[in-house]
Amino acid sequence: MRVLITGGAGFIGSHLAEAYLEQGNEVYIIDDLSTGSQDNIKAIQENKAFSNRLFVTIDTILNQNVMMELVGTCDLVFHLAAAVGVRYILENPLASININVHGTEKVLELCAKFKKKVLITSSSEVYGKHLHAPLVETDNIIYGPSSKFRWSYAASKLMDEFTALAYFRTKGLPAIVTRLFNTVGPRQTGAYGMVIPRFVDQALKNEPLTVYGDGRQTRTFTYVKDVVQALMGLMSHEKTAGEVFNIGGTEEITMFDLAKKIIDATGSTSAIEIIPYEKAYEKDFEDMLRRVPSIEKIKSYIGFAPTTDLDTILHKVIEHSRA
Ligand code: UDP
Repeated sequence: MRVLITGGAGFIGSHLAEAYLEQGNEVYIIDDLSTGSQDNIKAIQENKAFSNRLFVTIDTILNQNVMMELVGTCDLVFHLAAAVGVRYILENPLASININVHGTEKVLELCAKFKKKVLITSSSEVYGKHLHAPLVETDNIIYGPSSKFRWSYAASKLMDEFTALAYFRTKGLPAIVTRLFNTVGPRQTGAYGMVIPRFVDQALKNEPLTVYGDGRQTRTFTYVKDVVQALMGLMSHEKTAGEVFNIGGTEEITMFDLAKKIIDATGSTSAIEIIPYEKAYEKDFEDMLRRVPSIEKIKSYIGFAPTTDLDTILHKVIEHSRA
């Protein structure tokens, strides 16, 4: 099978590429290296068992000719290329909307043209400012005003979902929508704001762990290899097209407790520094204070449940960072 992964040199994309290569498939990656990196795919590029089955194109998904060739060649399309990370979105508002909205539109248009099954990765951000848990795929969404740019990410991802579902309804395109909750694991960088790689990095340097807000906001974290299994399972299932699925972990933790856990797990002498949101991001920044997925739907379709608990995830990330 030939599998196209847009954003395949990204953190999740590179793990997905590896999993399909391990199964003996041909993998085609397109990545503009905006937040992805050559380092992420170095190991699979250097693995002799994969060398004649891995094809990497460094380009933007907005390049119509290149994308036409790739979508035409492949059997399945995973669309992961997107602007990611709250910090990145705030620093690159226009480029982020452009790639998330127009990029996805182009991918879906080509998948419809060539009749290729496609899975798009949306985000738990689409739920917005809920305080209840767990978040179910059919829940309402609540955003802040357009002056608060954080919500542009949620809105752009929501538009991606609508576009994919509209292609399913009107053109019969087999499109699957996934909402990824906080995903972590080796190779994730803290450069775009992601909390676990940042805290681990700070702890290993015995620097203060920068907890934003009051530290009482919560998240759940999913190990990247669990996410990869979920993506592959949804893609190979016959009845997932036209549906929206949460993919996430279920162990809820506050950012303050997460910082303490990472200090303990690394044996660090770091202190915890509380930093107000306006200093960490920008004036009037709004965070999502709680974010816990319901995973009943994906469980009922493909039997998915995360296999890696938070302590194990942290252990793996710390080990990787130390190495
Ligand atoms: N966060 C933090 N310190 C950091 C980076 C992030 O306290 O150095 C917080 C952030 O404000 C949010 C949570 O950790 O409440 C998760 O942030 P991340 O950017 O990893 O993902 P998000 O869930 O916001 O998309």
